[in-house]
Amino acid sequence: MAKVLIPTPLRQFTGKQDSVTVAGATVGEVLNALTAQFPDLRKQIFNDEGKVRSFVNVYLNDEDIRYLSKDSTAAKDADTISLVPSIAGGSTVTAPPAATLSNDEILRYSRHLIIPEVGIEGQQKLKAAKVLLVGTGGLGAPLALYLAAAGVGKIGLVDFDTVDFTNLQRQVIHFTADVGRKKLDSAAEKMKAINPNVEIVRHEVALTSENALDILKDYDLVVDGTDNFPTRYLVNDACVLLGKPNVYGSIFRFEGQATVFAYEGGPCYRCLYPEPPPPGLVPSCAEGGVLGILPGTIGLIQATETVKLILGIGEPLVGRLLLYDALGMRFRELKLRKNPECPVCGAHPTVTKLIDYHQFCGVPQPGSAAPDRETKVNEGEIDVVELKEKIDRGDDFVLIDVREPHEYRICNIPGAQLIPLGEFPKHVAELDAAADIVIHCRSGVRSAKACAVLRQAGFQHVRNVVGGILAWSDKVDPRVPKY
Ligand SMILES: [Zn+2]
Repeated sequence: MAKVLIPTPLRQFTGKQDSVTVAGATVGEVLNALTAQFPDLRKQIFNDEGKVRSFVNVYLNDEDIRYLSKDSTAAKDADTISLVPSIAGGSTVTAPPAATLSNDEILRYSRHLIIPEVGIEGQQKLKAAKVLLVGTGGLGAPLALYLAAAGVGKIGLVDFDTVDFTNLQRQVIHFTADVGRKKLDSAAEKMKAINPNVEIVRHEVALTSENALDILKDYDLVVDGTDNFPTRYLVNDACVLLGKPNVYGSIFRFEGQATVFAYEGGPCYRCLYPEPPPPGLVPSCAEGGVLGILPGTIGLIQATETVKLILGIGEPLVGRLLLYDALGMRFRELKLRKNPECPVCGAHPTVTKLIDYHQFCGVPQPGSAAPDRETKVNEGEIDVVELKEKIDRGDDFVLIDVREPHEYRICNIPGAQLIPLGEFPKHVAELDAAADIVIHCRSGVRSAKACAVLRQAGFQHVRNVVGGILAWSDKVDPRVPKY
């Protein structure tokens, strides 16, 4: 006898029971007895040769039976057997409810309806689909516009940001007149204008470990358009835990990546990157820049994969990482394998619920230590106004700018010595450990790292300029351009 836990998608074959206790000395015998009792379940679990289907994992307690004695693994009375189909809530088992199309919609989607691979049935699948876009920035903008135009029935948007002038170079869903508005309002308005049939759900929150599962659970698939590591790992883990495909894209300067994670037993983000890079190693778009067109290319690859997954056509970008190099105008593909040791999707997961992703990635919680130009000045920091007074008094101190030379050419604070952060460690020896040192960058993040390097090296009088040259432009010299 053993207890078999029935996952949600398979409960329709067990009279809605979530667990069934059946007799058998081995896992194979238990499953045979179970499917004798519920014949409709048999073809979901076994193939024609009577072997367990490759996309159904069978666990005895915590162990995958592939790593035990497979079907012959002994099952005792107290044992629990779990059936884990690799796509939970997926379309392979349950077809989406058929949505009917109005005459207006038939006309609107005419160019879809005449493709045999889409047709009216495919368009109905799109209408019935529920897609969550995490972020309405660079990647989210083309995604939101095209998925709305294509007729995806329900699109959720997660964002709590407002439109900024520096967004307009790439976030084409937001217009100049939208600067200062909530991104959610701006995006939803454009999507509705393109296609009033689309239902748009606004989640005006930062995605966190507390709310992610609750938000994601209502959607069929999730599209990751985030720009930071804590949210990427959060989205990945939440998708794996919920069994939702995660359509991934990332961008930096002239290069992009795309793939589909957590789909039908395929690899997840942690299989590819088990751990985040150390904080500061990989700069963000705000720090490193991005070609404005690049998120269009990558976002539309994500949109294409999203539509293919909904329609169930083509070969999904699963187990393959697509790399795009805009300068060379080349696409490359790398094989991605599921890591059996993966901490979240592997055979023995250690991450079984959402964790603290800011701590995991070694970055501060947004708001806690962010370079907010209005926040108070802490120990080891200096305000731009105080810095100006210091310069005007002619104090004996060293002012260091740790930005890049091309940033220095955009604007600089007179008298600052340029030492880019990447070259900083090798210049430490040239600095006087007893000197009064003040370090700035664009917003205060990189300079905080440089300060930490010096303090580690035993420097006593090191201060970080709160808010960087952006704060200098705001509070001291408005002629200094912000970028
Ligand atoms: Zn994984």
